[in-house]
Amino acid sequence: MKDKQMNSQECIFCRIVAGEIPAASVYEDEQVFAFLDIGPIHKGHTLVIPKEHAATVDQCSPDILSAIGPVLGRIGKAVVASTGCDGYNCLCNNGRAAGQLVDHVHFHIIPRFDGDGFLKPWPAGKYEDGGLEAMAEAIRKNIG
Ligand code: AMP
Ligand code: ZN
Repeated sequence: MKDKQMNSQECIFCRIVAGEIPAASVYEDEQVFAFLDIGPIHKGHTLVIPKEHAATVDQCSPDILSAIGPVLGRIGKAVVASTGCDGYNCLCNNGRAAGQLVDHVHFHIIPRFDGDGFLKPWPAGKYEDGGLEAMAEAIRKNIG
């Protein structure tokens, strides 16, 4: 995946963090910001972002990811309490192939309701003989 360098003037989410573009904020601390998605899968669909620009999750510092992790849990709990949803997805699209449209890393917290059909059926594949262990080994070797 190519690096996507972008300055904060070009990035819509950096501009939201800077207060230059309005957003319905639900949470803010020193490193993290969360606001409602304007095109919700279901009402209450929330985006959690680092204030510091990074395009994808692999480009975030450990410090930023440590700051975001606990917030995902807190927002998830608040979204359940506020919407009465039956579950929620915590989803992060990285790269165009994965459906990322805004190149500032963001975690979707998407309220889900029994039978709503979103992301179903999950298109599960399978490995050829030995493929599962070979892939696990390849990923283990590439962990930095
Ligand atoms: P993704 O496809 O993962 O990059 O998702 C980008 C998300 O950002 C979409 O769900 C959009 O509805 C949402 N979005 C784009 N612009 C804004 C905005 N100005 N305020 C809130 N959400 C936005
Ligand atoms: Zn940005």
